[in-house]
Amino acid sequence: MAASTVFADCCWVARPFRGLHLRRTLLLSSRFNNRMFLSSSVFAPVAMTTDTSSKLLDGKSVAKKIRDEIAIEIDKIKETTGIVPGLAVILVGSRKDSQTYVRNKKKACEDVGIASYEANLPEDCSEEEVIEHISQFNTNPSVHGILVQLPLPRHMHEEKILNAVIIEKDVDGFHPLNIGRLAMQGRDPLFVPCTPKGCIELLRRYEIEIKGKRAVVIGRSNIVGMPAALLLQRANATVTMVHSYTKNPEEITKQADIVISAAGVANLVRGSWLKPGAVVIDVGINPVDDPESARGYRLVGDVCFDEASEVVSAITPVPGGVGPMTIAMLLSNTLSSAKRLHKLK
Ligand code: NAD
Repeated sequence: MAASTVFADCCWVARPFRGLHLRRTLLLSSRFNNRMFLSSSVFAPVAMTTDTSSKLLDGKSVAKKIRDEIAIEIDKIKETTGIVPGLAVILVGSRKDSQTYVRNKKKACEDVGIASYEANLPEDCSEEEVIEHISQFNTNPSVHGILVQLPLPRHMHEEKILNAVIIEKDVDGFHPLNIGRLAMQGRDPLFVPCTPKGCIELLRRYEIEIKGKRAVVIGRSNIVGMPAALLLQRANATVTMVHSYTKNPEEITKQADIVISAAGVANLVRGSWLKPGAVVIDVGINPVDDPESARGYRLVGDVCFDEASEVVSAITPVPGGVGPMTIAMLLSNTLSSAKRLHKLK
């Protein structure tokens, strides 16, 4: 079956998660130690098992814990140095979804004590105007992270604009130098893109070992799939990428101990695609019609949740899995940037 085959429906129904019991065949140790990440609080470890009950990887709770840790650290920094970490967001145009994302990021910053700076530019502004705002934030010592909300209007050259953010403030980790360093052995990026970083941090917090495991990443976008594969490889997994031209994606995915899916296709990954006991991180956020919902739709992942939860040892829900981790990683990147720029430990 070709990877592009879309499964518009599966047996997904909104009801409480069923088998949350942890049974053990192989308890995974916590040797994964990556200094890009925050402190080492651990959630109940996950066993890879051939059992039919799964554990929910609760991104919402883990993200809350991370945000609490960040808030405590920022309080200490403010108290001892007077430094306030700052994040600048550039929004071009008036897309409702982008406005909501920016608002959420601003609120998350406020909650942990990060100062937010905003530049709202009209849809028809020029590339030069956007770059001028980026330049001002680049040189503003109160700003430690800059992010340009995507997508940009069609008339703008995304790469040119993203490249204008200096690498030291590229908290989204999208600058080619950061991605290049991520791909190279013996080099460290200053920042790792937030969503894939959040996926790996979730595995780490649940003590799910990556080293030596077979991993499949579905999707190869610059912002999720490709950096997720690089991160898994850095953590010594054997990584295969599945994309829209992959033949036999089911067969390939079924060999994986760890699956990260970021295709943006509702219910693409069926239970039959998954190896018993595998761990699944579902990045996809896909709206599907739901006449019972007030909004007329609900959000589902790429993975057919009910089928998968009968097969795998652990899985993230959608929503409440990777999404909250992404914002927590943005805050973490901003804090690290402030510490690096001010030479704090
Ligand atoms: P994208 O469209 O840029 O990339 C999708 C990738 O999936 C492409 O590489 C494509 O080759 C691959 N693909 C598409 N159809 C496929 C198929 N049938 N089989 C195999 N591969 C296929 O999307 P993106 O920006 O990487 O986002 C992917 C999904 O993740 C979306 O649903 C998006 O909303 C979601 N997302 C979630 C978060 C979060 O914080 N949870 C963040 C970013 C993106």
